[in-house]
Amino acid sequence: MLSPYRILEKKRPGSPLSADEIRQVVLGATDGSWDDAQLAAFLTRALLLGLDDTETEALTLAMLESGERWDLAAEIPTLADKHSTGGVGDKVSILLSPLLAACGVPVAMLTGRGLGHTAGTADKLESLPGLDQGLDRSRTLRLLEEVGLAIGMATADIAPADRRLYGLRDVTATVESVPLITASILSKKLATGAAGLVFDVKTGNGAFMAEEEQARDLARRLVSVATALGRSASAVITDMSQPLGRWVGHAAEVREVWECLERGDGPEDLLAVTFALCREVSALVGQPLTDETLREALTSGRARERFVVWAEAQGTDPDWLASPDLPLAPAEHVLAAPRSGVLVRVATKQIGFLLAESGGGRLRAGDEIDHGVALQVEARLGDLLEEEQELGRLYLRSESPRRAAQLAACFEIGDEGAPPQLVRETIRP
Ligand code: URA
Repeated sequence: MLSPYRILEKKRPGSPLSADEIRQVVLGATDGSWDDAQLAAFLTRALLLGLDDTETEALTLAMLESGERWDLAAEIPTLADKHSTGGVGDKVSILLSPLLAACGVPVAMLTGRGLGHTAGTADKLESLPGLDQGLDRSRTLRLLEEVGLAIGMATADIAPADRRLYGLRDVTATVESVPLITASILSKKLATGAAGLVFDVKTGNGAFMAEEEQARDLARRLVSVATALGRSASAVITDMSQPLGRWVGHAAEVREVWECLERGDGPEDLLAVTFALCREVSALVGQPLTDETLREALTSGRARERFVVWAEAQGTDPDWLASPDLPLAPAEHVLAAPRSGVLVRVATKQIGFLLAESGGGRLRAGDEIDHGVALQVEARLGDLLEEEQELGRLYLRSESPRRAAQLAACFEIGDEGAPPQLVRETIRP
């Protein structure tokens, strides 16, 4: 067995590590025999020097084998799952799950905490009072049987290596790596073992893979490693060059989904991305859904009903569910356009970081999150704006004209621009 020093020394000039050496890193993350500094050094090397396909597959397998494997598809052969590579305002999982369940496609989804500038679904769902997100295999199966839906965080036993590495990547700026993202996502998703798995691979300046070519590379790796490890998977590359939907912020995003379920309608971009992913994953599990069926599940209130039944089954206070209250932070700031023109760029990643630095995210592992910090986004790429027209509204715990100015500066006004293409490409095996 090589010491951590020797493995790190071997990787330092970029030499590929053997499967056995990678297993030692993962074991070190799981049993604590590698300390945070050693793991951070490994992550930095992986980010800067890369891991090849063989190393990525070895890392994925070792992380997968660091914990339990539930193989849920053995019990529920049409079980679907979806995972996003992360974005700003990305509340798709919260809408997609009850929608699929309402159409008869069962969903089990393990969600994550925030990572880098992106907020996590697990943190957003903490806005539901009483919701118990702890899932183990038997509770997940029981929820699937009773509700057709289970969403939450794995107990410590699923991919524990990812739990440690994910937390370290979040605070050491080592997120934007195709191999690390591939292994992180797949170790969890393959451990639960749904029958069909769709990845929402985000691209644009609010995504970890800003360039479309990088996103394509990540999508191909996710699909090919999942397929090589025996799962039915595909990836949809979607736009993240501005926040998805009209709200960014933990409670605000849950509220946006709730309103969507209540009204049977919602922001066009949110619905387009959600429907594209529903179509893809439903086909993977052999129950293909059309936009008409999905739309009907939304407008009829069936998706809303699934959400309520699911939330209650996982412990959410039924009185609260009868009239949900998802308050925003009280200090409201209107962001106004400094000049007339076309909205040509939104600094989406910067929006994520600024909200996190305003209390709406973690700066250190274990920090409390202010769920009420939020940004309502009015202006969309390609919109023609008048001087002083509202770009959005910022909700903070206390007044901060400086923070409001920083957020307003994220909206760049120029002369020519167009709305982005939302759904770019689908990658299949
Ligand atoms: N989601 C994950 O679970 N891991 C990543 O690395 C990125 C997104």
